[in-house]
Amino acid sequence: MSLNCVFCHKLVFGKTGVTVPSMGPAHQTCYQAHSALKRTFQRLDIGALSDDELADLRDLVLAEDNDRRRKQADPGSNGDVELF
Ligand SMILES: [Zn+2]
Repeated sequence: MSLNCVFCHKLVFGKTGVTVPSMGPAHQTCYQAHSALKRTFQRLDIGALSDDELADLRDLVLAEDNDRRRKQADPGSNGDVELF
């Protein structure tokens, strides 16, 4: 494994380096810049999803959102399946 930063491709020296899971070594500053730009949620890299996966995720988020709104509007509801 090379010790070049996966972002800027320059050599990473001991103390300034971090290891990015599934990517490799990086400078801390490069990694921070990358993380700030990257669309991640929890540990999910949304940019790495396929179009189908992204569509599935969007449906899940919308369904969860609808469900919570409905429960807020009607706290007695026990979460019936809603088709839409
Ligand atoms: Zn770098």
